Amino acid sequence: MARVREDGDVIVAEIERIGRRRLRCSGCGDVAQQTAGQRPRRRWRDLRLRDRPLVLAYAPYRVRCRRCGVRVEQVPWAARWARVTTALARAVALLARRLSWAEVATHFGLDWKTAVAIVREAVATGLELRRWRPLHVIGIDEVSRAKGQTYLTLVYDLARHGLLWAGEGRTRDTIEAFFRWLGRHRGRAVRVVCCDMWDPLRRGGPDAPPPRRDCLRPLPHRPAPQRRPRHRAPRSLARHERSGASHLQAHALPVAEESVEP
Ligand SMILES: [Zn+2]
Repeated sequence: MARVREDGDVIVAEIERIGRRRLRCSGCGDVAQQTAGQRPRRRWRDLRLRDRPLVLAYAPYRVRCRRCGVRVEQVPWAARWARVTTALARAVALLARRLSWAEVATHFGLDWKTAVAIVREAVATGLELRRWRPLHVIGIDEVSRAKGQTYLTLVYDLARHGLLWAGEGRTRDTIEAFFRWLGRHRGRAVRVVCCDMWDPLRRGGPDAPPPRRDCLRPLPHRPAPQRRPRHRAPRSLARHERSGASHLQAHALPVAEESVEP
């Protein structure tokens, strides 16, 4: 960090390359041997410093990568296209599991659209990094929101007691969206689908990629409360009535544990 200055209310930390520190390619992450000039100065929002917004400012180098050609260097504090630092993104994503968008945005001094974008990105990264374990038993449930006017479909991994996926609506399209998300390869491992109300599924099941339909067994009654996954889906879902459905993915899916390697 070369120097810190104030820009109105904002604290700006200006960063410079230390000596001839090795730079990495943002395309493949490999150490690049040569630089090829610098890009204009960019700014990244970081966690607040006391009560004041902190911004990192840096002019990234272009690097000549053996594999990718000329690319922008990979900076250790932020993901490739991110406009906020990884530290801030992680904090926002964690808090978004507990609070509404508005509360999260206010807490970090962001506008809510930025908060939404951050969490989407964190969820996507989390999914990429998550090691997928075979999925054998799933449970499909629905919840109503907005006083029964609209429905959400929840898919649980019943073997591991976790919420796996959530989607708007409770139609055949919804369940097909789930199986599209799951993918043909992963969908093949599904052996049992438990549901007690899933008419669209009972009427024929998804076209692609189908779980083994002979295994679709509607439960005789709703699962007992203690059999429900530990994920606090019903309570957190109640909040979606206030905060909108885009909140959903943040709750439903894991947040990135890891991000860009320095
Ligand atoms: Zn590269």
